[in-house]
Amino acid sequence: MSGKTSKRAKAAKIRDVLDTEGAAIESNTQGFNDGRYESVADLENYEALKDEARTIKEDAIERLPELIDKLTATIEENGGTVYLADDAADANAHIESLLDDADADNVAKSKSMTTEELGVNEHLERAGVDVVETDLGEWVLQVAEEAPSHLVAPAIHKSRAEIAELFEDHFDPDVPLETAEDLTNFAREQLADQIAAADVGMTGANFLTADSGTMALVTSEGNARKTVASADTHIAVAGVEKILPSVEDLQPFVELIGRSGTGQDITSYISLLTPPIDAPTFDGDHLGDPDDREFHLVLVDNGRMAMREDDDLRETLYCIRCSACANSCANFQQVGGHAFGGETYTGGIATGWEAGIGGEEAADEFNDLCTGCSRCTEACPVKIDIPWINTVVRDRLNRGDDPGAFDHLVTGLTPDEEPAGLDLQKRFFGNFATVAKLGSAFTPVSNWAAAAPPSRWIAEKLLGVDRRREMPTFTRGTLRKWAKGRESPADPEREVVLLADTYTNYMHVERGKAAIRTLEALDVDVHVADVTESGRAALSQGMVETARDHAEDVADALEPHLDAGRDVVMVEPSDLAMLRDDYRRLLPEETFDRLSTNSYEILEYVYGLLENGADIDALADGEGEEIAYHSHCQQRTLGLAAHTEAILDEVGYDMVTSEVECCGMAGSFGFKQQYYDVSMAVGDDLAEQFTTPETADRRVVASGTSCHDQLTDLLDRPATHPVELVAPEN
Ligand code: SF4
Repeated sequence: MSGKTSKRAKAAKIRDVLDTEGAAIESNTQGFNDGRYESVADLENYEALKDEARTIKEDAIERLPELIDKLTATIEENGGTVYLADDAADANAHIESLLDDADADNVAKSKSMTTEELGVNEHLERAGVDVVETDLGEWVLQVAEEAPSHLVAPAIHKSRAEIAELFEDHFDPDVPLETAEDLTNFAREQLADQIAAADVGMTGANFLTADSGTMALVTSEGNARKTVASADTHIAVAGVEKILPSVEDLQPFVELIGRSGTGQDITSYISLLTPPIDAPTFDGDHLGDPDDREFHLVLVDNGRMAMREDDDLRETLYCIRCSACANSCANFQQVGGHAFGGETYTGGIATGWEAGIGGEEAADEFNDLCTGCSRCTEACPVKIDIPWINTVVRDRLNRGDDPGAFDHLVTGLTPDEEPAGLDLQKRFFGNFATVAKLGSAFTPVSNWAAAAPPSRWIAEKLLGVDRRREMPTFTRGTLRKWAKGRESPADPEREVVLLADTYTNYMHVERGKAAIRTLEALDVDVHVADVTESGRAALSQGMVETARDHAEDVADALEPHLDAGRDVVMVEPSDLAMLRDDYRRLLPEETFDRLSTNSYEILEYVYGLLENGADIDALADGEGEEIAYHSHCQQRTLGLAAHTEAILDEVGYDMVTSEVECCGMAGSFGFKQQYYDVSMAVGDDLAEQFTTPETADRRVVASGTSCHDQLTDLLDRPATHPVELVAPEN
């Protein structure tokens, strides 16, 4: 852990961000996220647009060297120059030389993440050039001397009142700045003169098209186009990944970028320029000569071409920096980019960018804030598998620079495939199946020990398991053992194999029994698989090889059942998501396809049985009991919450459902000392919804083990799995 922030220090930093910035970040990101849902709901072809955008990006990155050459030739033909910079130092030196040539003392700059990545402002200021940010949020941060906390709304962590106070202190304005309009007008006045007087206008580029040299600038305030129009020299700085083959390719991105990021059907300003533009310069008073215009494009590699060669990081280059992954992330909604982000980039995709540009260590501080829930993958307009990028980088960080150096010290002593230097906390949670097996075998001693204050103190000190959390209770007698002595239905309609996950087999055995009773009542013969662990626990810690081992064991154990025509049924949504989705990365394609297409969540399967004629009267009657139901993140991502809700409703429960997408626990995440506070902060909304006059006395029902643990802590009311509500007695 040398050189890394300690768990306690990380916890303290997160607490500080929660206290000082959390409220503004939560309300702004949730507003963006709600807006995204509303805006994309109006798009009939939303999924097709995402597929189209993805295909264009895949093609563009595949053909990137060719497109760089083509764009260079096109821009030179148009009268501009192109410079391909290897890294930040190279880019900054070239920009400085362009400013020298233009005899420029001041630059008006529109919002550009790439220039932030390069540290252009700092470099130019050291060279004696004044740089003014013209994007309102960036300008606020320039005045406040703070770092951005969000990809598209950099000052999202600041409230209106804080910005007003900043302006009052810094500028001592003649009139009070009370409303958002006052603040915007004040900023506009301050910036207008500086834009008009700038020697050089500098922009980024959201997209560049190789066929015509056209650039698309997508902004909320229009200052980018003013920046370009007023000065005679325009320098654009863009990562090489911004190149698309043709102008026609812009269409899906224009449709998606505003909707995905801020929930706007179309972003306020979408400027398409083919520089050098053929328009007179304008300094606020006088029109200049269009022939005086110069255009210089600085294309930036800075690690991108190496990312292109890296099978796992390559997808990062498809990113259009819309911020949907951040806005949809429960943890980001609480802490924002000052905790969940690196030097430049923020949110889930920040791991890919920071690791690609600065090496994996650059993502170390915040990478664990991605819990792999995969909501961001749904939100991403180019369908980037953001959780996988986070997992791979976590795995590389676990392995360090010299992965095999001390492995002989742990060979044969650990139940995993990980290196000697792996953090103990990760090793503990990643091998929880072993812990659970031992815990179950040694009950009740294991349960007394786990609950005893001294043990909890030791677990916190040694493993970073927060002592405010109740440790899970192990059950003596596993589900597999219970099921062995059970008689099959006399004349079953079908057969299934139940993959009893670690929690269902060793701890929440009752829900496994309920699943079996339910299936049997519907004339299904249930076999129980010889494996329990899907690899989810290991994967969540970035222990990819250990997860792969588990995946292979699951595939081997299930193969004879699949050969016998049995479907696979599972109780825990996060384990089902492994078979449905994550195994794509861990198993051969054919094996993955077979497991993925034949695996079902328990109530999804029951729903299918009922649709195909099974008798609903065989299930328990809800008798109008009032329940409050919370579905699991991955269950929602897989589109399966509706099946559970339909069945609970059909058998007669009086149900309200939570509108909260995440409970905040996310497996082991909420148990970790460094993340306890953010986990509980995420859970606050759920607690609020289940303690209203309408819900406070309802029985709490949830589909995920983590959700059960979190709800128990948040509400002090036990949670029940929905299958226990529909299972008949006996
Ligand atoms: S990863 Fe996807 S959702 Fe996140 S910023 Fe990039 S394009 Fe947007």
